[in-house]
Amino acid sequence: MRIETKCVQGGYNPGNGEPRQIPIVQSTTFKYSTSEDMGKLFDLEASGYFYSRLQNPTCDTVAARICALEGGTAAMLTSSGQAANFFAVFNIASNGDHVVASSAIYGGTYNLFAVTMKRMGVDFTFVSPDATEDELRAAFKPNTKALFGETIANPALTVLDIERFAKIAHENNVPLIIDNTFATPINCRPFEWGADIVTHSTTKYMDGHGSAVGGCIVDSGKFDWKAAGKFDCLCTPDESYHGVNYYERFGMEGAYITKATAQLMRDFGCTQSPQSAFLLGLGLESLHVRMERHCQNAMAVAQFLSSHPNVTWVRYPSLKGDKYYDLAEKYMPKGTCGVVSFGVKGGRAAAEKFMKNMKLGAIETHVADARTCCLHPASATHRQMNDAELVAAGVSPDLIRYSCGIESAEDLIDDLRQALDTIN
Ligand SMILES: *Cc1c(COP(=O)(O)O)cnc(C)c1O
Repeated sequence: MRIETKCVQGGYNPGNGEPRQIPIVQSTTFKYSTSEDMGKLFDLEASGYFYSRLQNPTCDTVAARICALEGGTAAMLTSSGQAANFFAVFNIASNGDHVVASSAIYGGTYNLFAVTMKRMGVDFTFVSPDATEDELRAAFKPNTKALFGETIANPALTVLDIERFAKIAHENNVPLIIDNTFATPINCRPFEWGADIVTHSTTKYMDGHGSAVGGCIVDSGKFDWKAAGKFDCLCTPDESYHGVNYYERFGMEGAYITKATAQLMRDFGCTQSPQSAFLLGLGLESLHVRMERHCQNAMAVAQFLSSHPNVTWVRYPSLKGDKYYDLAEKYMPKGTCGVVSFGVKGGRAAAEKFMKNMKLGAIETHVADARTCCLHPASATHRQMNDAELVAAGVSPDLIRYSCGIESAEDLIDDLRQALDTIN
């Protein structure tokens, strides 16, 4: 199946007389005839469902669709993108371990790593997304367990050189974990460039309609945890789970996701509800169609903004002349994403005026929705910072993040034009 077909039909192949649409299995638990039958499930000796905190058929079907889209071997849904990134890292790095991460990542992920996981004893070193091979190498330590980055960073819109990051990760016998939320597998499949684990905030383009918060983790099945020699957590018996050795029992293809389900889902319980998974599955059916339109609209908007006298700068990786244009062409020749950022003449005050005059673009903290939304971080998410602090955080006081929906590009441009014209 090609990727467009996988969006619509991947992961679910109903038999004769079965529901055409993915059934919502809204049940916490599952019934068995004998205790022995259930015991086999607990020992991971038979596959089947027993409690929806660990696994649920609706969630598994939708995870299988995302797994197919990314070209992985195993996948799981989580309650949010935050939970996905937490599980993806914590599954292989715990107290006393170290992780190298790109500094151009989603603010929530940065805080999770630099503050909360640090409190749990996992140490992080942040590197520039543009780091050279030698700069990347220098960040590694003997206890480093993973390298982490975002395909297209939210909100910085930097593009990661995935091949370079994969090369240095593998030289150091650790996996490369890529948050592929903004590109989606329609525009980039990080496994094809050497990444080992992919995460998503499905809240964004995958759901696409602003209806359900969720996350997903996908394993490429290509990282050899045993040969790497530093992942006892996957290659020795788990005494908390009946002594199972995930690597021996489930192989390279299944060890990582099985451990994340059996240990982390069991203990933290960050499950996605079957209802949310169903909405996510619906969103995925049109992901390929929507991404194309998101990218067309963003390109039209970026070109319009570049020529407007009240716009001082525009950042969009698919726009010729952008710092990341070449990397975007290499990794995402079909398009990058629907998010454009730009600065307005007149700084913070002009940006606030512009925001007040936007009519179609709604003010939201959300991005990557079918409806256009925009945010002026200096007066919203980052309002506690002064101008100097904003610049240090890579968010200039005039920056506007504009997430193009799938409406008419002409309407978006008309709206932008009238709002920009008012700030003179
Ligand atoms: C939104 C986002 C997250 C966090 O996801 P939630 O679903 O909001 O928890 C993680 N990574 C990226 C790139 C995001 O855009």
